[in-house]
Amino acid sequence: MAAAPLSTEQWESRARALDIRHLAFIDGRFVPAAAGRTFARISPIDGRVLTHVAECDADDVDHAVASARRAFESGAWSRMAPKLRKKVLLKLAELMRKHADELALLETLDMGKPIGDSLAVDVPASANTIQWYAEAIDKVYDEIAPTAHNAFGLVTREPIGVVAAVVPWNFPLLMTCWKLGPALATGNSVVLKPAEQSPLTALRLAELAAEAGLPPGVLNVLPGFGETAGAALGLHMDVDAVTFTGSTQVGKYFLEYSGRSNMKVVSLECGGKSPHIVMKDCGNLDLAATKAAWGIFYNQGEVCTAGSRLLVEEPIKEEFLEKLARVAATIQPGNPLDPATKMGAIVDEKQMERVLSYIETGKDEGASVRLGGNRARIESGGFYIEPTVFDGVQPASRIAQEEIFGPVLSTITFNGLDEAIRVANGTIFGLASAIWTKDIDKALTAARNLRAGMVWINGWDEDDITVPFGGFKQSGFGRDRSLHAMEKYTQLKSTWISIR
Ligand code: NAD
Repeated sequence: MAAAPLSTEQWESRARALDIRHLAFIDGRFVPAAAGRTFARISPIDGRVLTHVAECDADDVDHAVASARRAFESGAWSRMAPKLRKKVLLKLAELMRKHADELALLETLDMGKPIGDSLAVDVPASANTIQWYAEAIDKVYDEIAPTAHNAFGLVTREPIGVVAAVVPWNFPLLMTCWKLGPALATGNSVVLKPAEQSPLTALRLAELAAEAGLPPGVLNVLPGFGETAGAALGLHMDVDAVTFTGSTQVGKYFLEYSGRSNMKVVSLECGGKSPHIVMKDCGNLDLAATKAAWGIFYNQGEVCTAGSRLLVEEPIKEEFLEKLARVAATIQPGNPLDPATKMGAIVDEKQMERVLSYIETGKDEGASVRLGGNRARIESGGFYIEPTVFDGVQPASRIAQEEIFGPVLSTITFNGLDEAIRVANGTIFGLASAIWTKDIDKALTAARNLRAGMVWINGWDEDDITVPFGGFKQSGFGRDRSLHAMEKYTQLKSTWISIR
């Protein structure tokens, strides 16, 4: 029989009893930062200090990279038989499921998302990711090229070596697993730097990976700040590849770091300003309005693929916004530890202020606030913002062009598909997009012409580990998920065998 769901009080009591891992994980064990420094992890739920975490810097990066290199060269993981690597990663997925409540609680306390989401989405999807890549390990074959008869041209994939994974705070565990799954499956050693706002699940995950049998040094976790630990990884001469998820601005820094150091391979999953197009022949306006609301308000709008621009055809705008408002009314901010809460806290005070300042910018630009627009739950001591909808937004305005990364929707009207596609493509980003229409020609024309890594027809955020995830333009390059993700953690070798 499944255990009864926990109440808010039970989650709060578990939170008080938690033994939070707060040291860096280097060479298979927890250690303080070399300089002895720590930083406070403040929970966005109530503004209280959860713990003090090791603040790693360039010295710790040196230690972790050296450990990762030793592990890689030893072959303990990189040359382990694929079916044995598979076993370790399957064990890790199993341990993640066994400790699902603890991981979910850490995630919610650290970055403020609703506990219901951490439990139903983040932790299971993370464990599934590790399992999926574990299962893939011994099913991917190399190639023999179609050469002349007197030779064999072998095309093999080798692990790239020491991979630095730098991840953001919006889906801390899931983004970590999107990197770790394929990087570890292909035999690399990894130095992971979680975001300074959300290091707690990664530290616990490293411990679980060691318990699963991952050799020391294959996975190191360095909590710390971007400008210090993150930059040191980007500039390190012995890191072979950086896999980054985060903002477009920081993604560009990693390209620079690579050029200034050892030309390490860089793959980037960056920001978005994704258009959600609703044509007047949409068909099911209620479903589209529900998806549009969840597409921007899920995870407090802190989603790289958030449908933050609603492009709605002029004649149906009023009706559509009314329907959307009715859905939004059911997604109000609440205590993230309450299992009934659908919208949690913004990750920290700085991000909350940033989002609120964009709301002011929108008003200054002449857009009208149709819904929300304010800070919420101030008495909690935490950081919350109402679901906010702007109407009358100009396509060139800042709230239509810049990534806000909060629960703020910018509504733009258009007439006809050509205008919709022109507006949709009119930002520096190209991550996700969607069109709602019953007309197959319009749907396919949009699918062909939207410059985005992902296009949804009559849906939003439908996805699966089997489908690549990533962007066009300044949303980055390289793909997470699917077998394609393994490409960025391997390099091709051509071996020519002559038959004499
Ligand atoms: P961020 O770019 O500020 O930080 C991401 C990571 O980079 C963190 O670990 C941070 O410590 C590090 N970092 C920051 N400054 C650095 C520097 N100067 N040098 C080296 N490292 C540095 O992003 P964020 O605020 O944590 O996350 C939000 C962003 O992530 C949004 O732009 C969002 O769209 C993006 N994101 C993209 C995807 C995707 O798959 N495309 C998924 C999730 C989030």
